Amino acid sequence: MNHRIAIQAQELCFSYENEPVLKDISFSIGAGELVALIGPNGSGKTTLLRILLGQLRPSAGEVLLDNRRLQTYAPKQLAKTISYVSQQTGLNFPLTAFELVSLGRFPHASRFSFSSADSLAVQRALGATHALHLSERNFTRLSGGEQQKVLIARALAQSASILLLDEPTVHLDLYHQLQILSALKRQCVEQQTTILSVLHDVNLISLFADKALLLGSGQLRGCGPVAEVITATNIKELLGVDMKAAEDPETGLRFFIPRDPFRSRVDRT
Ligand code: ADP
Repeated sequence: MNHRIAIQAQELCFSYENEPVLKDISFSIGAGELVALIGPNGSGKTTLLRILLGQLRPSAGEVLLDNRRLQTYAPKQLAKTISYVSQQTGLNFPLTAFELVSLGRFPHASRFSFSSADSLAVQRALGATHALHLSERNFTRLSGGEQQKVLIARALAQSASILLLDEPTVHLDLYHQLQILSALKRQCVEQQTTILSVLHDVNLISLFADKALLLGSGQLRGCGPVAEVITATNIKELLGVDMKAAEDPETGLRFFIPRDPFRSRVDRT
């Protein structure tokens, strides 16, 4: 892993109709890192991602991508630098999975042709998310989890150096969550892609992420290596959930068992 900075947020502030949502957010993410963004519902995670993408303008502060101010990027240059997978809801693209992933090539393809290199990039992206077998299927008839894999493939086909993901594994069962997070990790290590992803599962964050950003009520509550910031104390403060932390003797990684905050355990004796 090198020390080139890929994403820099400097004192970002944002409000929706005078309602402050993000307050003085500063952090930097190195090239090739997989960083988890964690925080309760409504804490400003999606808003922060949309600012980093240039979809929302901060009321104060600055975003730098690859050490260059976000506002100085032309749209096509920006699309070659950063890609995004939003929380999908009600998408209705009447396309095959292959055609949909091909849309990710638009910053690279010339106006008149879709080259064999573009086609190869689409196949590689579908292969990376274990979705090649879905290529000819109609996207609208895929399950939520299958659609999620195809949408991640579309973002990978864009070949941007930075990838932002908003809850990329929400529709996937545990096996496929591990499959996709492992593929994303490989993308960071092998291609030096920088990934910032909203993730809610602290055990998956422990397994896959290099660093974590903790966002609570629009403020950064922690930022650093997972082993330092994903602790039972911080999770209790951030999410209001008691966690029992333990160490996996095989990997040395910390894992967590949540305590039921509603005390709904039924005594069956
Ligand atoms: P998260 O992704 O952490 O759940 P969001 O960034 O979606 O949080 O939302 C942060 C806060 O901003 C929430 O209180 C939400 O209701 C509010 N919000 C989000 N989008 C809008 C909008 N378009 N207009 C007004 N308020 C919004």
